[in-house]
Amino acid sequence: MNFNLKLLCLCGILLFSNAAFTQTFRTFNKPVVFDEERKQLSIEYLKVRHGIVQDSATIVPKMIVLHWTAIPTLEQSFDAMNPSVLPGARKGIAGASSLNVAAQFLVDRDGMIFRQLPETAFARHVIGLNYCAIGVENVGGSNALLTDAQLDANEALIRYLKKKYKIEYVIGHHEYQSFIGHPLFKETDPNYLTVKSDPGDEFMNKIRERIKDLDIKGAIKK
Ligand SMILES: [Zn+2]
Repeated sequence: MNFNLKLLCLCGILLFSNAAFTQTFRTFNKPVVFDEERKQLSIEYLKVRHGIVQDSATIVPKMIVLHWTAIPTLEQSFDAMNPSVLPGARKGIAGASSLNVAAQFLVDRDGMIFRQLPETAFARHVIGLNYCAIGVENVGGSNALLTDAQLDANEALIRYLKKKYKIEYVIGHHEYQSFIGHPLFKETDPNYLTVKSDPGDEFMNKIRERIKDLDIKGAIKK
């Protein structure tokens, strides 16, 4: 092998190894049903629950809410969010609306990001804040803690969304009640509250450490 060829090979290896360490940000579309029924139920939810009257099922994102699905696989998690109407099993929240829960993004355990709804479409995933919050569901739960690949994916997703929208807050679902009394919290029934534990302080602490350069606020400190 002559010197030039050796140099070319070395450059090739360097380029290849650099590419391996800088993974391209990408999302895959895996849309949940967004039919006329889901649209109308979303518009009704905006009016009845948030007190916001508008004729489109859209949001102006100001916040990102991170979750875990408490469901072990991606397909089962997707299947739970796919129908427009809440399944009969979730009677606890069915009284508030029959709109099914969903999140704009679903992140698998290997860090692959799926977009289930347009980023500015309305999704029911956090009481009081849906109208301004993009939801990110992560496949996992207390028995299958979120992975480092999911941490990487959530960080990349937050960075991507922050560039596109005026994101002021990133919170864990378990922190949403800190917004009660804050101007952003809009829920017409003060008794409609659920206690959440996802995705937990450990995950949120790690995320906040990673995004501290972004100047994004977290839970409201009372
Ligand atoms: Zn949640």
